[in-house]
Amino acid sequence: VPLYEYECLNCKAQFEKLVFNSQTEVLCSACGSPRVAQKLSVFAVGSSQGTAKTAPDAGPCGNCEAAQRGLCGGAS
Ligand SMILES: [Zn+2]
Repeated sequence: VPLYEYECLNCKAQFEKLVFNSQTEVLCSACGSPRVAQKLSVFAVGSSQGTAKTAPDAGPCGNCEAAQRGLCGGAS
């Protein structure tokens, strides 16, 4: 859900509002004026942190930090 930040052109109040579609009329939360300017859009973060499945410390074993295959006793 997009969260937009607005500034009122009438009273200069700044506020945020969820806008579900472009037809939504945004009124100033302070004075009720429809003359507001959209400042920027803020989207929820955290969806694009694609950290990996591979362990960064994986050694030659590939499954653990064992120096050699077989030391970890894991899958062949
Ligand atoms: Zn206002």
